[in-house]
Amino acid sequence: MRKRAIVVGSGAGGATVAKELQGHFDVTVLEAGTEFRRATLDRGSIERLRRSRLLVDPRLLRLAYPPIRIRRTPDMLLVNGVGTGGTTTMATGNGIRMDEDLRALGLDLDREFEEITREIPITTAHQLRWHPTTRRLFRTFDDLGLDPVVMPKMGDAARCRHCGRCMLGCPYGRKWDSRTYLDQAVRLGARLVTRSPVVSVVMDGGRATGVVTRGMVGHQFVPADLVVLAAGGFGTPAILERSGIRCEPTLFVDPVLTVAARVPNAWQCNEIEMPFVVQRDGYILSPYFDWISSLFHPQWRHRLQDIVGIMIKLADENVGSVSGSKVHKLLTPVDRSRLDEAVGVATEILARFEADPNEVFLGTVHAGHPGGMLPLTEASAPAVHDDRLPENVFVADATLFPRSLGNPPILTIIALAKRVARICADKDTAVKIRTPARRRSPMPIP
Ligand SMILES: Cc1cc2nc3c(=O)[nH]c(=O)nc-3n(C[C@H](O)[C@H](O)[C@H](O)COP(=O)(O)OP(=O)(O)OC[C@H]3O[C@@H](n4cnc5c(N)ncnc54)[C@H](O)[C@@H]3O)c2cc1C
Ligand code: SF4
Repeated sequence: MRKRAIVVGSGAGGATVAKELQGHFDVTVLEAGTEFRRATLDRGSIERLRRSRLLVDPRLLRLAYPPIRIRRTPDMLLVNGVGTGGTTTMATGNGIRMDEDLRALGLDLDREFEEITREIPITTAHQLRWHPTTRRLFRTFDDLGLDPVVMPKMGDAARCRHCGRCMLGCPYGRKWDSRTYLDQAVRLGARLVTRSPVVSVVMDGGRATGVVTRGMVGHQFVPADLVVLAAGGFGTPAILERSGIRCEPTLFVDPVLTVAARVPNAWQCNEIEMPFVVQRDGYILSPYFDWISSLFHPQWRHRLQDIVGIMIKLADENVGSVSGSKVHKLLTPVDRSRLDEAVGVATEILARFEADPNEVFLGTVHAGHPGGMLPLTEASAPAVHDDRLPENVFVADATLFPRSLGNPPILTIIALAKRVARICADKDTAVKIRTPARRRSPMPIP
């Protein structure tokens, strides 16, 4: 009989591990949320919602878009996805390899990234159908010597409809998300159980024996020979804490702040999000229509088609923690001074773009790239396994990143998750080789 593996979460890390491990193990994916459903709001209903001023609290967005989870800290909103595909369903499709820090720890993920390029289409072909506003923005960035680079997108970006709804779930199925891997895992025989939040890992004699879930019928023990936690940068540390394993107060989240201006009939709201990017020291800049701010921020009162935004995504300091459902995360003085510098650059870009300097306004700081609370070190990187974990418990998400990427993390999480799966599969094979299967008794000769 094959051994049983439980994979917690079905986002970038969980779906990858499930696909890679099924066959080596009998995999069960335990997912806290339900099947992903995109937000079907059209521009007219969004405008009506904004005018109604009913959306006084961003957390209410969940009423119109159930998979989104928004939490508040004094300095920012924290955003993540709950349901099949995790946060990848609301991602903007950016696919960048960002493994320099892992490589510095001795982790060479070349093989995993090669596999990814065979499995996930990644292209800059969306550039061919950019709106005039995006083309003009690109030239403006270029004229300022900022060295803009077209953003590689995961999925069928050549046929992207440039509708601008990436964050609300792609209505045309052009954007890749981890449900592709999840479906493959299920076709290979993995079991997916939704509405099944994992409370904790159960341990006995230094090994995990399974997990406890909280379901419709109360708490339930699910036995397993292997547990892989991929509940995301907020979810995984919370499960570990409830299992008696303390992580470190080194949470990063990559805060985002959009600097925007009124530009009549710019129609950026109908453009692919983050079409190009500029890498700066400690942050990136990219054109972005900020749906969260446009829905809730009182200053974002202009018609949607008249707003142009430049996103600042910060590589924040690793200072913060998760405890249960509470997240403690503030901007440090270093974060604030980087943000101030970036706001200056974005304002200059908008001025060059001929936006009225008196009409520049800021969005709400929000963040959706959590990780860093069980950071890999030179010692733990080769086995991708922290000593605090039992031998048969692994983590396969950005919780392992040594510091913020300040950049899209999905591809790097997938590469890391592939390595975790390979290590688990190889370990299992090694055990089988060491303990050969008992020989069958010879058949009696008739
Ligand atoms: C608006 C937005 C846009 C983004 N755009 C991009 C982008 O373009 N490119 C990019 O690279 N990154 C992007 N990101 C970041 C990226 O989506 C996430 O970093 C990535 O999805 C994290 O993968 P993960 O598997 O670690 O976690 P997630 O994808 O968040 O998946 C975690 C899963 O675990 C489940 N879960 C949580 N707790 C439990 C529990 N206790 N029991 C069972 N299940 C649980 C959740 O429901 C979820 O399905 C974006 C993020 C946001 C918010
Ligand atoms: S712009 Fe529209 S069609 Fe293109 S990836 Fe985003 S949601 Fe899909």
